Amino acid sequence: MTTEGTELARKAEFEKHHEFIKANMVMFQQVGEALTSIRDQQLFLVAGYGTFEAYCQQEFSFTSRHGNRMIQAAKVAKEHGVPNEYAARKLAEVPEEHRAAVITEVKSRTGGKVTGHMIEDVGHEIAGEPKEEEDTDLRPSAEPIRLILVAIATLESDLLQLTSSVGRFIDLVPCRAAIQTLRSQIKPMVPTHRCYACGGEGCELCKGLGWIPQELFDSREEEFRGAKRV
Ligand SMILES: [Zn+2]
Repeated sequence: MTTEGTELARKAEFEKHHEFIKANMVMFQQVGEALTSIRDQQLFLVAGYGTFEAYCQQEFSFTSRHGNRMIQAAKVAKEHGVPNEYAARKLAEVPEEHRAAVITEVKSRTGGKVTGHMIEDVGHEIAGEPKEEEDTDLRPSAEPIRLILVAIATLESDLLQLTSSVGRFIDLVPCRAAIQTLRSQIKPMVPTHRCYACGGEGCELCKGLGWIPQELFDSREEEFRGAKRV
């Protein structure tokens, strides 16, 4: 092949890969939207997963926290017309009330270009605080609770099976209500937030665990409202 021919072939090769990358740069938005549907409509239940966490872990080996970030990045990208996933994630880290201002400021400094690094820099400037380190590694594992929820989901589907065979006399409605009660008692009790009363040392409020569930965290009094959410 002539040098010119090789050059043409390489250009074609470049175009092919480049088009593929461009097309897939926006895929994260569609993935995020699909995850949103599965999470918000609890579609994971029909696949036998008791929780969104279980679905994320078992299907993709990532935490629901990570899944929620993907969802958030997709949402933010759509709302603010951010060009790629990295930039969307950086923008999602900026408090919501500052996002529009950050994008406007970034564009004015770059002449219209939006990058993740610029969002991060300007975001910190505008929000006026550096991001704190995350310490999710220290959080107690919710695995035993997750297993119970999977067991509950299994119980529910087994019961359903049973009523179409030998369990025909079983009244499904109150049984499912009872299962729902059980689930609602356990599911929200995963300790997800560092205890605001003791800072994680262990106290009466957190039952010595150092961590508390969302509901308890949300009901904290006014003076604890600045407490760091993790
Ligand atoms: Zn405590």
